Amino acid sequence: MKPAVYFDEYDEGSTLQCLLCPRHCVIKQGEVGFCKTRRNVDGMLYSLNYGQLTSIAIDPIEKKPLFHFFPGETILSVGSWGCNLSCEFCQNWEISKDRPKVIKHVMPQQLIQIATERKSKGIAFTYNEPVVSFEFILDTSRAASKEGIYSVLVTNGVIEREPMELLSQSMRAMNIDIKGWNDDFYRKEIGTEKANVLRSIEIAIKSGVHIELTTLIIPGKNDNLEEMEEEALWIKSLSPDIPLHINRYFPNYHYTVPATQVESLIELASKAKKHLNYVYVGNVVLEGYSDTFCPDCGNLLIERRGYNVIVSGVDEKGRCTSCQKEISLVF
Ligand code: SF4
Repeated sequence: MKPAVYFDEYDEGSTLQCLLCPRHCVIKQGEVGFCKTRRNVDGMLYSLNYGQLTSIAIDPIEKKPLFHFFPGETILSVGSWGCNLSCEFCQNWEISKDRPKVIKHVMPQQLIQIATERKSKGIAFTYNEPVVSFEFILDTSRAASKEGIYSVLVTNGVIEREPMELLSQSMRAMNIDIKGWNDDFYRKEIGTEKANVLRSIEIAIKSGVHIELTTLIIPGKNDNLEEMEEEALWIKSLSPDIPLHINRYFPNYHYTVPATQVESLIELASKAKKHLNYVYVGNVVLEGYSDTFCPDCGNLLIERRGYNVIVSGVDEKGRCTSCQKEISLVF
């Protein structure tokens, strides 16, 4: 157990309030918050999943998904357990809803050592929701950056302003979910306000973090074309160069709605492409929808066949080889 950073006394007794994410759970002595990863022990809040890993693997960076950040490279990817949201369609429920039996204990310095041994330039915090391992990912990303290893966060973005600002200082890239554009859907099915997520995206961008966004499309829930257009327009207001991944949903956890129709994904992607330069369709093999094209001249810049990546249309300065447009890429 590790003392939590963000909490406060709630009343005169030993009840506490966690201030890490906008849920602001009130936690009585001996109890845990909504995410189950924070316990009140004698008036002190502790993180229960510090250094507790449920998965550790070398993944293609495209799997995060990050398509404009060291394309074609691999990254050491780790997950813990727990989540602060209530999605009934969770695609990772085995590790997000409770603590699994099999846990590997790995401290920050050990994880950095593993990244070095496996010749990974970075560490990705992913699989479950990393925000509920705030203390661990902050300690590890800070120590890693001192050793020249970058950190990546794959997150729902539901975190309070100050901890997000802190994390943004030690993360090089993030993929943040926008789970839909409908406020009611966010409130009722996800368990938070959409504004919390948008604020996190703005904070990360302001801090210079490379950002890509993902929307998982669930039939009948967030597949409205007008809402997709509004989402794309909001992203465009930050930058039309922010990559948007429109991903296919498959039934999981408590949701039995059939998988998203491919035609619906194509329609939504076309709508988003009216306003954004880089829109991808994921979780489905669809020719041309995972490739990167120059937004000015249409030159094929990066070809992707599954996780096989060929960077062919970008020069060493990150410009299109055909029209010399500067492409939004980190490499
Ligand atoms: S991090 Fe967990 S305990 Fe803290 S407010 Fe969020 S859900 Fe509640």
